Amino acid sequence: MQPIHVIGGGLAGTEAAWQIARAGVPVVLHEMRPERRSPAHHTEHLAELVCSNSFGAQSSDRASGLLHEELRHLGSVVIGKADEHQVPAGGALAVDRAVFSADLTETLAQHPLVELRRDEVTAIPAEGVVVLTTGPLTSEGLSAELQRFTGQEYMSFFDAASPIVVGESINQDIAFMASRYDRGEAAYLNCPMNREQYLYFWQELCAAEQAELKDFERETAKFFEGCLPIEEMGKRGEDTMRYGPLKPVGLFDARLGDFRDPANREKKPYAVVQLRQEDKAGQLWNMVGFQTNLRWGEQKRVFRLIPGLEHAEFVRMGVMHRNTFINSPELLGTSLQFHTRPTLLAAGQLVGTEGYTAAAAGGWLAGTNAVRVALEQEPLTLPVTTMMGAMFDFISSAEPKHFQPMPPNFGILPALPKKVRDKRQRYGQYRDRSLADLNTWIHHHHLPVVKPVGAIA
Ligand code: FAD
Repeated sequence: MQPIHVIGGGLAGTEAAWQIARAGVPVVLHEMRPERRSPAHHTEHLAELVCSNSFGAQSSDRASGLLHEELRHLGSVVIGKADEHQVPAGGALAVDRAVFSADLTETLAQHPLVELRRDEVTAIPAEGVVVLTTGPLTSEGLSAELQRFTGQEYMSFFDAASPIVVGESINQDIAFMASRYDRGEAAYLNCPMNREQYLYFWQELCAAEQAELKDFERETAKFFEGCLPIEEMGKRGEDTMRYGPLKPVGLFDARLGDFRDPANREKKPYAVVQLRQEDKAGQLWNMVGFQTNLRWGEQKRVFRLIPGLEHAEFVRMGVMHRNTFINSPELLGTSLQFHTRPTLLAAGQLVGTEGYTAAAAGGWLAGTNAVRVALEQEPLTLPVTTMMGAMFDFISSAEPKHFQPMPPNFGILPALPKKVRDKRQRYGQYRDRSLADLNTWIHHHHLPVVKPVGAIA
């Protein structure tokens, strides 16, 4: 049997290659390091953790913890090794990074069906089944090839994303639905500010602490003048934001009366923060124009000063960093196959999931489906009630024009049949539903049943 080629030996590629070999199919795993370095990796090991040594909160009523748990049920090698090499980190699943990556490298290298090839791939193999997992720092040669394959406009090299807020956490007694000048259906949630509120917000924004940019990110950011961080815009002058994304023009809360009535002029807001719907179900809202380099804690503190967002639950914070990713909603199905070439699959940061665990999750599905494609079996898609299923559903069906990478979060899961006010209880119910549906799915597809270890309920 022809081997399946997995390109990129990071979190996603390592998981994909393992799942392929585990299914009894030969696999060639291409990794460009150490022949060619990335600006963030420091070793030659597979599945190197480029920054933090944490896979996120462990408790299974947290989004990352639920994802760990799903991956344990599915026999993930990445999460299995993370459990094995765990170090104390409060409630997080953190690992001894050197031992973790060295062990994964050895485990794969010793598998008789895995060939670890240290080369940079610059052309997608034209024949056979191929999985692309080259991550946020995909080499230039392959990026150019991907641009050619997908079309120039379907690739991004910089992630300038605004924070995303859970709709239920927005105070809709204050925020109002409207589109500017009443054009089309009301599509935005608008948070109005009076002068005093705006000036206080502006001062706090300008004084807030920024995150450090890495050298290579500073280089890339230079080409990104067109998309200013909100704090940078604030620093350009008291009113700059009011002439930019916070302009109060053409937006009026219909609950206060008719905006054309001169008597209502005084009720016009001084500034307005707009939030745009991010997902099909309208559970997630994106703060328009709020791409930012502020530290995450500072973002939460300052953005919660905006009227209506006092209790905002953030599912993703704003970022501006180097990140190569494709426009998955246009290109991929929920099985992680390309529409135009079903024998080509992709996973990891390259497809717009975010974080180590999400990359391993994508690797699991892409590897599993690569085998099924090679064996001419129907590819799998996970139930959308699982965190994995919801993530792949999101990246393949989000609005393509504004597509930005997404970390695992409860906002992308279908709502529960009954509203649950308490956040912890709500998340616990999401967890119970996910694991029940996942187990049914595993049995239905006759997948190997794995007894999870290391879970925290
Ligand atoms: P990677 O783990 O990056 O793996 C991709 C692999 O492909 C690499 O080994 C690379 O060398 C190889 N490769 C690239 N091009 C080629 C080619 N042409 N041929 C062969 N091999 C190639 N996520 C977190 O969860 N926590 C963090 O703290 C965190 N910090 C980050 C810091 C930085 C600076 C960056 C850039 C990202 C960070 N991320 C973090 C996101 C992180 O990249 C992902 O979570 C995770 O590494 C993605 O896994 P992946 O498999 O998609 O990519």
